[in-house]
Amino acid sequence: MQDHVAPLRLRLDGDALVANWRWLDGVSGAAACGAAIKANGYGLGAGGVMTRLMQAGCRDFFVSNWGEAAALEPLMEEGVSLSVLHGVRREDMAQALSSRARPVLSTPEQIGRWREAGGGPCDVMIDTGMNRLGLDWRSDVAAQVRGLRIETLMSHLASADEDADLNRLQRDRFAAIRDAVPARRYSLANSAGICRGHAYHFDLTRPGLALYGGVPLAEAAGHIRPVVTPQAQILQRRRLIAGDSIGYNATFTATRDHEVAILNLGYADGYLRGFSGRGAAMAGHTRLPVIGRVSMDLLAVEVSDAPDLAEGDWLDIAYDLREASAASGLSQYELLTGLGARYDRAWT
Ligand SMILES: *Cc1c(COP(=O)(O)O)cnc(C)c1O
Repeated sequence: MQDHVAPLRLRLDGDALVANWRWLDGVSGAAACGAAIKANGYGLGAGGVMTRLMQAGCRDFFVSNWGEAAALEPLMEEGVSLSVLHGVRREDMAQALSSRARPVLSTPEQIGRWREAGGGPCDVMIDTGMNRLGLDWRSDVAAQVRGLRIETLMSHLASADEDADLNRLQRDRFAAIRDAVPARRYSLANSAGICRGHAYHFDLTRPGLALYGGVPLAEAAGHIRPVVTPQAQILQRRRLIAGDSIGYNATFTATRDHEVAILNLGYADGYLRGFSGRGAAMAGHTRLPVIGRVSMDLLAVEVSDAPDLAEGDWLDIAYDLREASAASGLSQYELLTGLGARYDRAWT
């Protein structure tokens, strides 16, 4: 434990995280509902996310790389599974063979390597049209995976967040492979895929974004609760006189006198420059617009309407993911995964 208190933090709502998982689990119907916790749990802190979701009953977790798996392995309870989505490179083999996590094999090379080493249970990724990772759905998948002990056979949807023909195509291609390739379980749907109905659920779903408060499809709005609120401390309060400019490149010039607060938050913390002149902090229900350009570690908000705010006070940053996405031009995914290492992460 460190005693040092950072001047910026993420307030993380553990009840909302669990409620989001329970909703996704319910919508997944008979399928089990797992959790994608790669990229440090989409920026929230993978350990804190995993612990809370295990307690709620989640048994299947997904990360991208073996470094992520190593950090989480000590937290794994009995009966919990951790899959490494990016498979197993030569450099990963030693760790993978002694790990409780499983690789998601996606190339003939990886399959050969795993088989030769007598690697044990594994997952396999099939590419059904995204052309990212996985065995080509047009190839003889059954022949390629013969002899493997496949725990989860999976594929990933490219356009689940829009009503695209590709969704149905990928689903049908995956269903055909399910019929031909034995595995203990089959898995296709991410957050948006879960909202597309039972035809997409198979045995196991793999939400990420929606767990953390992202709304992947309109159907989920009203069910998904926000989880993350960035908060930053006021380092200085100052007055702009009409004619003064503020920040790098003087992009804002006061046409009247203003009171501003300088907050300890900037683009190095994932609060990117797209929020310049568009984002806001909140003092209760009062919106305090960001003025001028967001700096690396600092930004300015207009506080003329909040005369009591002073140096040392904390402000919430407006971070409704759909609104912040529209305001900044960043995706909801980027808004979460960009939240950097300098925040204290405080679960409530
Ligand atoms: C990231 C990821 C997920 C989760 O996707 P969301 O859109 O965040 O729900 C599921 N499956 C795979 C293979 C992924 O890479």
